[in-house]
Amino acid sequence: MRALLATLWFVVSVNAAPDLVLRNGLIYDGTGRAPFKGDVAIKDGRIIAVGNVARAGAPGKVIDANGLAIAPGFIDVHTHAENIVYHPKAENFLRMGVTTLVLGNCGSSKLNLGEFYIKLEENGFSPNIASLIGHGTVRGQVMGGSLRRPPTATELAAMQKHIDQAMRDGALGMSTGLIYLPGVFARTDELVALSKTVAAHGGIYASHMRSEGTNIFNAIDEVCTIAEQAKLPAHISHLKLAGRPMWGKHPQLLARLDQARAEGIRLTHDQYAYTASSTSLHQLLPDALIVGGAKAFSQRIKSAKTHRETVAWMKDRLHRRQREDYSYAVIAYHKKDKRFNGLNVKEAAKLCYGEDDLDHQIMLIFEVETNGGASAVFHGMHEDDARAFLRHPHTMFASDSSVRAFEVGVPHPRGYGNAARFLARYARDQKQLKLEEAIRKLTSLPARTFQLKGRGEIRPGFAADLVVFDPAKIQDNATFKAPHQYATGFRLVLVNGKVVVENDKHNAAGPGQVIRRGK
Ligand SMILES: [Zn+2]
Repeated sequence: MRALLATLWFVVSVNAAPDLVLRNGLIYDGTGRAPFKGDVAIKDGRIIAVGNVARAGAPGKVIDANGLAIAPGFIDVHTHAENIVYHPKAENFLRMGVTTLVLGNCGSSKLNLGEFYIKLEENGFSPNIASLIGHGTVRGQVMGGSLRRPPTATELAAMQKHIDQAMRDGALGMSTGLIYLPGVFARTDELVALSKTVAAHGGIYASHMRSEGTNIFNAIDEVCTIAEQAKLPAHISHLKLAGRPMWGKHPQLLARLDQARAEGIRLTHDQYAYTASSTSLHQLLPDALIVGGAKAFSQRIKSAKTHRETVAWMKDRLHRRQREDYSYAVIAYHKKDKRFNGLNVKEAAKLCYGEDDLDHQIMLIFEVETNGGASAVFHGMHEDDARAFLRHPHTMFASDSSVRAFEVGVPHPRGYGNAARFLARYARDQKQLKLEEAIRKLTSLPARTFQLKGRGEIRPGFAADLVVFDPAKIQDNATFKAPHQYATGFRLVLVNGKVVVENDKHNAAGPGQVIRRGK
């Protein structure tokens, strides 16, 4: 069948004159099939022909792609890019070939997606945007400060109403963040009830699970229970094995996920290309202490008893995780004292107190939280596990990043490098997987899983979201020490048929569209 299709495509005459033809590239069509030489013709934002496009029918602009790969634009299903409102160019994403972003992950989204979309569409922006509705956002809205209990029937109905509205506005599904407030207080039955509303619209359940460390198998059981009882597909966000006691357990973990699929659960996952995670520094503190934010924390920690118990709790947890201290935790951005940015907790304690023993490290964490908190990078994963995950056919590649403000703070490098790093480091250099398979994980797999219709493949009728690059030259450049470096090697990045990046330069074009579920 494939051979037949290839012959049919051999010469394609196009009825309408294309706006643009990418000539003689090596086409990776996004499905994972082997690449083939050919042309891609584009008109009115769509691909109108693929193959050997008859020259007579193509008087429009022609770009020679000889020696270059042509692939569908990359789709990043796990972002926190709500701040695209302030940074519509989304340069860090476009310059690593990402043309579509899924927002609203880890339980946190815009509450009113309909309004958010209209505002975006009025102003213009570069990549395509879709979103999940965040469970935490909805729960916070409905239940206010009374977080640590199940919802009443009235509250549950109110949450369902918000979710129903978001799904009508085009949400792809619902996300949860079950280590964060207030998601951490939701029980499985609440999540099942809300997921049923999502299922009624044909959406997906995407979860930052309750554990990514020693309790991960229970957390996966919960994901499966929700998928089964609410009858919807489920997706595990940023799959990882966090913490030394869990390192090397990827065969068991992947076997558990395969078993769930064998039992009929529609289950996928995503992953970023790094062995460090990024979240708030206050994840090192007990949940009960951080309810209500930094102000509430600073009041609670004044109590000598709470202080003493918290120090003991933190030491015990470090011990259970086979850690000596907090040198694996790096402060990414602390507004109050920017000298800390880029230092690990141990180094920051030394700078602040002249002492860096564990007690001073804990003191520093209290100090930072009291002064408004910080974002942080945690070096907690093993490369062998990450490699096993990225080879798995149901894993897609996603950054977990916001739109980066250039040169602000010392954020996780994934926001600048993730997609390029999978192709350069893991596919090309380490040969962990074929380039066409890596591209599939960045294109058709996310498009099909998250119902981004007409995206993620090079096929007539599909949106002309395209990347043209030299596989030998493509490179992520961002590092943990110097993250504000764009990926390189991209000859062209097109969104809806419009060139946005040319020779590693963003031209400020704003052709992005809001993608509503299934539309
Ligand atoms: Zn998350």
